[in-house]
Amino acid sequence: MPPDELTAARQDLTADCGRCVGLCCVVPAFAASADFAIDKPAGTPCVNLLPDSRCGVHGQLRERGFPGCVVFDCLGAGQRVTQDVFGGADWRDDPATASAMSAVFPVMRQLTELLWHLREARTLVAPGPLRDEVEQRLAAVEALAAGRADELAALDAGAHRREVGDLLGRVSEAVRRDVPGRARDRRGADLVGAALRGAALRGASLRGAYLIGADLRGADLRRADLLGADLRAADLRGADLTGALFLTQPQLTAAVGDPSTSLPAALERPGHWAPAPGARRR
Ligand code: SF4
Repeated sequence: MPPDELTAARQDLTADCGRCVGLCCVVPAFAASADFAIDKPAGTPCVNLLPDSRCGVHGQLRERGFPGCVVFDCLGAGQRVTQDVFGGADWRDDPATASAMSAVFPVMRQLTELLWHLREARTLVAPGPLRDEVEQRLAAVEALAAGRADELAALDAGAHRREVGDLLGRVSEAVRRDVPGRARDRRGADLVGAALRGAALRGASLRGAYLIGADLRGADLRRADLLGADLRAADLRGADLTGALFLTQPQLTAAVGDPSTSLPAALERPGHWAPAPGARRR
């Protein structure tokens, strides 16, 4: 499947805030930190949330101390919960609806992430037993995501994550097996702040690696497996992520990059990344 077809196949995994009731601004708890300017208990609306479910500081999130909101992406969970599960209801309607939505939203967010990865996995393997397994798992997760509120609230999403994670690991291994000059795997490695400028990481598994603040300028990350890698503030300027596996838009948005960063074809360049040297900021 060409990259533009993968983008189209993920269309329903794109947040549509106009069809949501601000669930990401209500359901999670925030702890005052570099990501959020305030403490907020779970299940209570953020002080910046407007009555029409828009954010009152949307255009100034970083300046106002909410960069964590820029990075967050529900991958379409918000509109699924609001429209498909609750038929357009609002958590403001009554406490029971608010409580039920709070229970369902985190589960749906996990399912939409699994769908994101499984739809990519389907494009990576040739027809055969492994591809069949991906297709079956994808159909199963789609069915779970279409469940009723009580079914979703009772779902053990963690168990499904583990099973899908195992399958994605086998897909990853099959894809990376023949990568020329494949670098050694650093799965789950603590690489916080690591000096990896120009590092040869082609085809490596960096699954679940902690790359917070790592210097990855000019690194070769082609066909690297980045499932769940923590890329917050990692410097990807000039890095080559062509064909990188299982990377999500929120991971990318949390990193630092510029126009010289080469991206997997189905991902978008974050709008806040630095412009090319000499380019004028608008
Ligand atoms: S600052 Fe805006 S985007 Fe962030 S939680 Fe509050 S209302 Fe939502």
